[in-house]
Amino acid sequence: MAKKSSSESEARKECKFYVNASVKDFKNSILWHMERSLARATVRATSRDWWLATAMAVRDEIMGRFISTMSRQYKANSKRVYYLSLEYLMGRLTEDTLTNSGLMDVAREALKELGLDFDSIMASEVDMGLGNGGLGRLAACFQDSLATLDYPAVGYGILYEFGLFTQSFEGGRQIESPDNWLKFGSPWDIVRPEYTVKVGIGGRVEGVMSSTGDWSVRWIPEGELLGVPWDVPVVGYGAGTVNFLRLWESRATNELDLNAFNNGGYTQAVHQKAMSETISKVLYPNDKTENGKILRLMQQYFFVTCSLQDIIRRFKSLNGENWDIFADKVAIQLNDTHPAIAVPELMRLLVDVEGLGWDKSWEICTHVFAYTNHTLLPEALEKWSVPFFEKLLPRHLQIIYEINARWLSYVESIYGRDSDKIARLSIIEEGAPKMVRMAYLSVVGSHSVNGVAELHSQLLKESVLRDFYQISPEKFNNKTNGITPRRWLKTANEGLSDLITKTLKSDSWPKNLDELKGLEKFAEDSDFQKKYMEIKRENKAHLAKIVKDLCGVDLNPDAIFDVQIKRLHEYKRQHLNLLYILTLYRRLLHNPDADISPRAFIFGAKAAPGYDLAKNIIWAINTVGNVINNDARIKGKLKVAFIPNYNVSLAMDIIPAADVSEQISTAGKEASGTGNMKLALNGAITMGTLDGANVEILEEVGKDNVFIFGMNVDEVQKLKAEGYNPWNVYNSNENLKSALDWLVSDYFMPGNPTAFEPLRKSVLDWGDQFMVCADYQSYCDAQDRLGEVYKDKARWAKMAILNTARMSKFSSDRTISEYADDIWNLEKLPPRE
Ligand SMILES: *Cc1c(COP(=O)(O)O)cnc(C)c1O
Repeated sequence: MAKKSSSESEARKECKFYVNASVKDFKNSILWHMERSLARATVRATSRDWWLATAMAVRDEIMGRFISTMSRQYKANSKRVYYLSLEYLMGRLTEDTLTNSGLMDVAREALKELGLDFDSIMASEVDMGLGNGGLGRLAACFQDSLATLDYPAVGYGILYEFGLFTQSFEGGRQIESPDNWLKFGSPWDIVRPEYTVKVGIGGRVEGVMSSTGDWSVRWIPEGELLGVPWDVPVVGYGAGTVNFLRLWESRATNELDLNAFNNGGYTQAVHQKAMSETISKVLYPNDKTENGKILRLMQQYFFVTCSLQDIIRRFKSLNGENWDIFADKVAIQLNDTHPAIAVPELMRLLVDVEGLGWDKSWEICTHVFAYTNHTLLPEALEKWSVPFFEKLLPRHLQIIYEINARWLSYVESIYGRDSDKIARLSIIEEGAPKMVRMAYLSVVGSHSVNGVAELHSQLLKESVLRDFYQISPEKFNNKTNGITPRRWLKTANEGLSDLITKTLKSDSWPKNLDELKGLEKFAEDSDFQKKYMEIKRENKAHLAKIVKDLCGVDLNPDAIFDVQIKRLHEYKRQHLNLLYILTLYRRLLHNPDADISPRAFIFGAKAAPGYDLAKNIIWAINTVGNVINNDARIKGKLKVAFIPNYNVSLAMDIIPAADVSEQISTAGKEASGTGNMKLALNGAITMGTLDGANVEILEEVGKDNVFIFGMNVDEVQKLKAEGYNPWNVYNSNENLKSALDWLVSDYFMPGNPTAFEPLRKSVLDWGDQFMVCADYQSYCDAQDRLGEVYKDKARWAKMAILNTARMSKFSSDRTISEYADDIWNLEKLPPRE
């Protein structure tokens, strides 16, 4: 790093970077890769070629740190945490790697000297979108924090050939197309064929006499396939530690191909090969719903057994068969129940393959596993049918039954023969067919069960896992989610980051976010307010260009940028937002000169392809938006833009430009939220219910710096218990009635007034499960208040600054430190220098 004047450099708490390169060397490296790796003449190079060559040049710089991290961890034989997640929503990797390795300025300068625009080159990288939403993005933020804090860690998952679908709109309706992100390969994926593992499927279970003369059980799978690992380097901030994500790709075995070829001919061989390679083909696009497809269970088992076999191989290479220390060397975190099959699979590997005996194996399992719950929604709790299991994983089903039998006899030892209790606590749900309750399996097989925000962890203990909590209260704990400030502030909002660095005279805040508290004393400083709000305005102008480009809508950067970006779901209540938009629009039509703060409502959201009502809400927002955007009577005071294909990269453009963060879920439904944290950190004011981590955001920023509305969890429960009837609200609230009736009139949809009947019915005829009508008035009032407060520029600036200054709790570094100390018992292993 360039040295500043001596007085300034004394004040700077400089962050050490382990990677160094000169602009000249870096530029030459790009040109070298353009010629030698890509075989491309610079005159013919496309943006993608330049991005590839740049990414390869960065990769070269971090490889040394990658190798030294691996050998350091190997030599120390340190404990590692293995994070098992079916989803990783990584986004683009190059820019963030530049930030974390300290090479951002070098790369910018090098590309500039080559006559290229850095931002447009970086934009040619396709997002690595191997996740649906918050759960997958959390896994990605955690990898960044694990590496930044120098924890030995590996993230395991699946290398989906197709990530989350690409969204576009036709006539305002969602169209899905495949996300073929790997079409041109990725410089960030390194294949490791030497660590390929075998995976069995189906077949039967046999009793066999072991070599020691003991009767034992063996699984004889019907089919076999291969898991081939691809490693993605994860560079911590400063690049002292470079960990990796290991993502498994499914492939057909050669033997299987040949046998099938010999017996059944070419077509069957090809069919079997295609079947095996289908497993890692596509990410399921459902967020918070399970559809019980057998391929998904196969995906879960596939990545779990690959990962566990890999973990055991690594353990044995260092510790031989010394199983007594397995739990001292290995911690495994289950990201939701998606990897819950790891519990019976580790039992199978230890009992059947390693010959350890049940009790010892169980002891190991329950010391190694920890489970994170992500939702209370009943439709999201995974259950797999017993007949499915029997067909696909017969030995695992036996093991689950054995685990359950021992568990229920323990339950009986506490409560006696209470058949009600036993049915409630059983891992197997009775019915036709019987189902395996994956959350219960996870709880029984783990030593730790955590929720992802204080409120959520509390509700877990009181509702879905109440019986388990009563038996083992010591297992239960909270780990409030967090986000990485490297991606979500330093990389995404360079203007604000530079202002923070200059103001605090420190560049170590991305690693020590508590330093942001130092901004509090500037909250009322008019010079600082001016600079802070100028940066916000620049970010808004930048987003306005993107919106113009993607939606054809003109946004005024002086309007309030009111942002709701998250998966489309009824519980998140994008339609409540729509009802306020309709209300405001109607108010302006009645009084075009009303003195309201101009507003731009900005949405980003994908709906699961099979979720009809969610798609209806998207269509309604787009349709209403189109009418509003083209209505000259309201003089541009209202605009609505639905940005297509919301993903991590778009989030990085939208969040720095947001004034308002819509976090309006029905209280008790959003486990935590992390979008709320990203937005508040970037100075957007939260408009939110007392749900998930909003409760803790309120605690941190203070009640004057957030807008809270609506019912809390107790009020929701009370109203439901009393018997809630949305028609009563509708009939007594003229504005609500007008908005809902207007929606199904000819006005928005000439010739097709019933288009949005489903939306209207969901909040009236079908009982309004998510209490949209009940919270409507309170929401409108809070939104109106916000509009008034925005007119006071100094007050608004102060609020925004205090949000940035007070969000440090929500760094994923804090979250990961808590997991490491309370759950994993994990030590840091920093570089020795
Ligand atoms: C952070 C993030 C989410 C989660 O948003 P919530 O508002 O917490 O649901 C979803 N998608 C993307 C792309 C994100 O970056």
